[in-house]
Amino acid sequence: MTSNQKAETSSILEQLREEIAARREALISTTCDLLAIPTLNPPGQHYRDICDWLDRRLQKSGFQTHLLRATGTPGDSDKYPRWNIIARHEGKQPGQTVHFNSHTDIVTVGEGWTKDPFGGDREGDIIWGRGACDMKGGLAASIIAAEAFIARFPDYHGAIEISGTADEETGGYGGVAWLAEQGWFNPQRVDHVIIPEPLNKDRICLGHRGVWWAEIETKGRIAHGSMPFLGDCAVRHMGAVLEEMEASLFPLLASRTTEMPVVPEQARQSTLNINSIHGGLPVPEAGYTGFPSACVPDKCVITIDRRYLMEEEPDRVRGEIEQMLDKIKSERPGFDWEIRELWQVHPSMTEKDAPVVGAVGRAIEAVMGQPPDFVVSPGTYDQKHIDRIGKLKNCIAYGPGILELAHQPDEWISIKDMMDSAAVMGLTLADLLIPQTGG
Ligand SMILES: [Zn+2]
Repeated sequence: MTSNQKAETSSILEQLREEIAARREALISTTCDLLAIPTLNPPGQHYRDICDWLDRRLQKSGFQTHLLRATGTPGDSDKYPRWNIIARHEGKQPGQTVHFNSHTDIVTVGEGWTKDPFGGDREGDIIWGRGACDMKGGLAASIIAAEAFIARFPDYHGAIEISGTADEETGGYGGVAWLAEQGWFNPQRVDHVIIPEPLNKDRICLGHRGVWWAEIETKGRIAHGSMPFLGDCAVRHMGAVLEEMEASLFPLLASRTTEMPVVPEQARQSTLNINSIHGGLPVPEAGYTGFPSACVPDKCVITIDRRYLMEEEPDRVRGEIEQMLDKIKSERPGFDWEIRELWQVHPSMTEKDAPVVGAVGRAIEAVMGQPPDFVVSPGTYDQKHIDRIGKLKNCIAYGPGILELAHQPDEWISIKDMMDSAAVMGLTLADLLIPQTGG
């Protein structure tokens, strides 16, 4: 960067800071209004209400809006329709399109709250609420950033889009996945995508690890529990699977490291979680006071959640589990198994030299005074659909909020963090949508 460009950047930043500071109260009320709409998912409540709110709000700021229902996607019904909104503001000249995508759904409230999860409780710099950091605070920051930018630089080139989408917390099939299938996310209509998930205001999240969920079932034969030798215990067979996992699979996965900068650092390897285990008689209903009957379990099932790396072959993830089960089968009389795949998402990681990474990185450096950290998320988010379905590789997550607070009781967001992030987002828009005059 030349000294001319540097001076220009700091003058633009100063102007944006002024506009954002003037909108501090609007930022707070936007956040609290969004928090007051309880968009709990599951089951997917109030999607239409939050879209209507965003519709009114963004139309007032000169955006053209589209309300889109993902009819027929998982969970969509007349009682719980999957509504999404895409809003677009056109610049004065043709140019690139920058898109901010936020999910509008929140997870269940859960126990342990000392604040009202929907009341917009506020003290000093902090606003509490379910979804404050994940991710209504990020959505509010992107709205304020766009409004501040448009007010000060109305002659910009290109377009700005803001979307509020459904169902991220349950896979995104009634939200970004569906929109990508309908052609809303593709390189022909959008150039840069920023997802304001709470990855901290000074970090750029390039993508996420892959996921493979599956059920493993071991087979047995039912018999009277007093004569177990007449049956075959599926739970003991599953015991052999768990033993083999401890002896060979877990150490093998832990030894697989990655170039992906996953945070937290313990996730910088392959991992496997045993999500659940069920075998034998079902758990009796609450209140049932009888005794169990004596039976040898004929079936045992575990659900596994395997997270994998860019460096791993997706097919091998399943293959090595099958190999392990075959090995047990060759050694253990009566052992038989079955795998049912539940779902799979490949890893996604945007290149560090992608244009949106460069623009947001320069903006973070100007606002925060130091270059960004590059991170990768241990779990997935909607980037997978933009990458895989939309074929739009120029996509990152960047937004205010502390990742670890997501889904916790007393979730909160800092107003200062939202304002700093809004400055980064505004400066990113300037970088991408104002033609260079300096140099
Ligand atoms: Zn989120």
